[in-house]
Amino acid sequence: MTSGPATPPPIVPPTVRVLLPLPLADAYDYLPIPGNTLESGTIVSVPFGPRQMIGVVWGVGSGGVPTAKLKSITAPVDLPALPDASRAFVDWVANYTVTPPGAVLKMTFGSMKLLKPKKNDVFSLPQPKPDFHQPKLSEDQRKAADILIEKCGGQRSVVREKNSASLTTDHRPLTFSVTLLDGVTGSGKTEVFCEAIAECLRQGKQALVLLPEIAMTAALIDRFAARFGVQPTQWHSELGEKQRRINWHAIMRGEAKFIVGARSALFLAYPDLGLIVVDEEHEAAYKQEEGVIYHGRDMAVVRAHLGQIPVILSSATPSLETMFNVQHKKYDHVVLHERFGKASMPKIELVDLRKYKMTAQNFISPPLFEALQKTIADKQQAMLFLNRRGYAPLTLCRACGHRLQCPNCTSWMIEHKSSHRLQCHHCDYSMKLPDKCPTCSAEGRFAACGPGVERVAEEIKTRLPNARFAIMASDTLDGPKAAQDLVNQMANQELDLLIGTQIMAKGYHFPRLTLVGVVDADLGLAGGDPRAAERTFQLLQQVAGRSGRAEDAGRVLLQTTAPDHPVMKALLKGDRDAFMAAELHEREAYHLPPAWRLASITVSGADARQVIALADQLAAAAPQDQKLRVLGPAPAPFAMLRGRYRHRLLIQAPRNINLSLCVRQWLALVKTPRNLRILVDIDPYSFL
Ligand code: ADP
Ligand code: ZN
Repeated sequence: MTSGPATPPPIVPPTVRVLLPLPLADAYDYLPIPGNTLESGTIVSVPFGPRQMIGVVWGVGSGGVPTAKLKSITAPVDLPALPDASRAFVDWVANYTVTPPGAVLKMTFGSMKLLKPKKNDVFSLPQPKPDFHQPKLSEDQRKAADILIEKCGGQRSVVREKNSASLTTDHRPLTFSVTLLDGVTGSGKTEVFCEAIAECLRQGKQALVLLPEIAMTAALIDRFAARFGVQPTQWHSELGEKQRRINWHAIMRGEAKFIVGARSALFLAYPDLGLIVVDEEHEAAYKQEEGVIYHGRDMAVVRAHLGQIPVILSSATPSLETMFNVQHKKYDHVVLHERFGKASMPKIELVDLRKYKMTAQNFISPPLFEALQKTIADKQQAMLFLNRRGYAPLTLCRACGHRLQCPNCTSWMIEHKSSHRLQCHHCDYSMKLPDKCPTCSAEGRFAACGPGVERVAEEIKTRLPNARFAIMASDTLDGPKAAQDLVNQMANQELDLLIGTQIMAKGYHFPRLTLVGVVDADLGLAGGDPRAAERTFQLLQQVAGRSGRAEDAGRVLLQTTAPDHPVMKALLKGDRDAFMAAELHEREAYHLPPAWRLASITVSGADARQVIALADQLAAAAPQDQKLRVLGPAPAPFAMLRGRYRHRLLIQAPRNINLSLCVRQWLALVKTPRNLRILVDIDPYSFL
């Protein structure tokens, strides 16, 4: 036997990381398919436990597990690879929000059902035409549009007209930029950002418009269709299964060029995204409060940065966060100063409720009532705004004062006349009005306290019996179609009056609407939310903006018991910038956002003692960094929600501190029992 060359050591194939759309701590290592190099981003099927799962190649394996123990990737899946920017986005969001990356990837996949196309699915779509119907812009609008077009890599209109031959060839490469498009309601912001979208489409790139609420989409979709000749591709939870699947694939294949969606649309895989527009950027509805907790506006800026593309934030009442970034020159600022055409801003008046004697059943003061009568007599339209669903926010026993409370939440039961029941607006609990008081057994002594929109409607019915009105609230409408029906009825003058909550405050354009009455302007100011004043200001300004959007002058009456409050004074004077400056000053003084960073950690569970123990343990393990401030633990304002007790810690940090990292390291120091939950909210917007 001759001794041959020594047997070479077995070649160890480099392993591959595969991220699965599951809330696991990290990606898993797999063996590659022999002879098949899989690029990062390739969508693959892999064995996972007893089943096959779809995941994404996420780089080279960690090498932490011996090769012999690893399983092989089964096969690549017939889908386009996830673009680099999409993968970087998943990692960034996971890191920032302190969530597992797989939970973020799940949002990119939408749902697993979507991934497999059906036989008859058609993904090619009619393409939007950038110049299908170009409105003639005012000078102010033209200037703003030109700046946005330049940011999208296009040329200003004058230059473009001169070189019309080179129109589609001469584009500058895109660079990341954030621009606040700031203009009063009705100034034409939508028309202006459509010019940027048109430029993006001219270049063959994808444009994404984010909207805070689905209720708003129907009206805007029609406007976009009129502007670009075809309906945009939609992405939100109201889509049917088939449409969702088709849209998901069309977006991922780059077939869909113009996409309008809810915040979740941000996570889809765009092969060639060229622009993001965040409409109504100040809206709190952009904050996702469940699962991966993130702010859609802020993540839009991150996504734009990772893709090196422009993002436009549009609002009539920009958030303090955005104004702060404008002040610090991080964001550009483009302003539209006036309403378009003949419309002027409505006149805002305060009605000091303390001056009028009103019964416990009446919520419309004499001045507001007179204005309503006059408006309807003049064949104009009105809107009554009250940000409270149902009939009455509180029901109490007149004999003993007992208040009907939700058994699962720190919250009153809200009476709903339409369903003849009392409901908790925080959990699903509902009940019939009891015959007897549970405390004193008195019969038939319950009294409704305070108004909801249903009760205001009842008052209208008795005091203005001939008025044609409708209620517009999330629980009285059955989806975006129903909202659109109401909007059409208003437009066709089949209604004199809309009575509604904040869903009616946004975006709609009713030319004959000349009176807005705010039933309780003080409503949003109570409670422990540091943004209460800012939000109230924004909301009331938005509501006011519904009035007088065409030629007829508009009027706004705000009913308040605090006419000297800075919010009311600012609304009265129309002095937004002074109000914002004062508000920012206050936030700085109290170390609150946007001047400082803020995070909240909420411990919850069914057993109060266990919850308190874990919250105390967390407090004891708090980071010792002198620059951080830890507040609490203390019971959350809703100390019980859906049957779980809640204790909370708040962490304040200067802006140059990586708060997400601090929180991650901090949480690693304590062990969470299985029956308790820790919820991390970086940049919290909800303080319930
Ligand atoms: P905003 O988004 O700032 O509230 P919109 O874009 O909705 O304002 O414009 C308000 C109204 O004025 C809309 O009905 C819009 O179609 C109209 N409008 C604005 N600019 C123009 C324009 N240049 N030409 C024609 N109509 C316009
Ligand atoms: Zn409840």
